[in-house]
Amino acid sequence: MALILDGKSLSKKIREELKKEIDSYIQKGMRNPNLVVILVGEDPASQVYVENKRKACREVGINSMVFKLPENTTQVELLELIGKFNGDDDIDGILVQLPLPSHINTQEIIEAINPHKDVDGFHPENVGKLATGKSDAIIPCTPLGIWIMLKHYKIPTFKRDVVIVGASNIVGKPMGLLFLKNEEAPVSICHINTKDLRSYTKKAEILIVAVGKPNLITEDMVKEGVVVIDVGINRLEDGRLVGDTDFGAIKEKAYAITPVPGGVGPMTVASLLLNTVSIYRKKHGFAPHPLTEV
Ligand code: NAP
Repeated sequence: MALILDGKSLSKKIREELKKEIDSYIQKGMRNPNLVVILVGEDPASQVYVENKRKACREVGINSMVFKLPENTTQVELLELIGKFNGDDDIDGILVQLPLPSHINTQEIIEAINPHKDVDGFHPENVGKLATGKSDAIIPCTPLGIWIMLKHYKIPTFKRDVVIVGASNIVGKPMGLLFLKNEEAPVSICHINTKDLRSYTKKAEILIVAVGKPNLITEDMVKEGVVVIDVGINRLEDGRLVGDTDFGAIKEKAYAITPVPGGVGPMTVASLLLNTVSIYRKKHGFAPHPLTEV
C-alpha cells in the first residue's frame, strides 16, 4: 500500500505558518498583503475555485478582493481593470481566473498583468525566467505545490525518470521546466499526439498526470514503486470527484500517490498564498518566501 501524499494536511501546515508570518508583519505596523482576483462569467467550477482561494486568503490574513464581472465583459474593460491594479502600489498580486469566455483573448490578458504581480506565473516574463533557470521567476501554483509536496515527503527527484502526461502552459510544461532546472532529472512530456503513452508511463519513476480524463492511467501502465502525482479533477456522473489515474489499483503498486481530492488541489491554493506573500516580502525589502525558491 502506497504512501499517501496528503496535500490537505501539508497545505494546512503551510497556511498556519503563513498566518503567523503575516500576523508578525501586522504587529510591526505593516499592511496586509493584497490580492486581486478577477472572475469573468458564470463558469461553476471557476466560481468554486475562486471561493476556495478567497477563503484561504482570509484565513491567513491576505486581503483578497474578488471582482466578479459579467460574461459579456469586453477585452478593453478587462484590460482597463488590470491596468488600474498594475499601477496601484498596494496591490501585491493580480490573478485572472481561467478559462476566460471565448470572446476574450486570454494571452493578451495574461501579458497585460504586471509580471511582478503575476501570482499565477503565467506571464511570458516569468515563463522565460523559469525556462532559463533564473531564481526570481514566479512559478505557476500547481507545479510549485507539487514540488513542495515532493520535497516535504522527501521523494528523491535527482536523476529519476520523470514522465509528465499533459503539456498545458499551466501545469505540464512548467512542471517539466522545474525538473530541468539545475538538471534535476530527465523529463518526458507526453500529450495527445504521443504515439505510445504506455511505453512512457511504464518507465516513469515519477509520473505526473495532468490531462482531465478519468482512468487515463491504469495499474498496468505503471511500474512497481512509482511515485504518482495525479493533477486531474474530473466530476463523474454520480457526483464523485476523481483524478486521471486508477487510484484504487495503483496505490497497491506505487511507492507514493496523491489522492483526488486532497492531494494537488490544496497545494495549488497554498502556493497561490505563498506566491502572494513572496511578492509582498520582496516589496518590503525581505527575501522571497523560501518555499517559492525552487
Ligand atoms: P489542458 O489545458 O486541457 O491540458 C491537458 C493536456 O493533456 C494537453 O496537453 C493535452 O494535449 C493532453 N492530453 C489530452 N488527452 C490526452 C491523452 N489521451 N493522452 C495524453 N495527453 C493528453 O488541461 P490543464 O489545465 O493542464 O488541466 C489538466 C487537468 O488538471 C484538468 O482535469 C484540470 O481540472 C486539472 N487541474 C487541477 C489542478 C489542481 O490544482 N489540482 C490545477 C490545474 C488543473 P493537447 O493539448 O495536445 O490536446
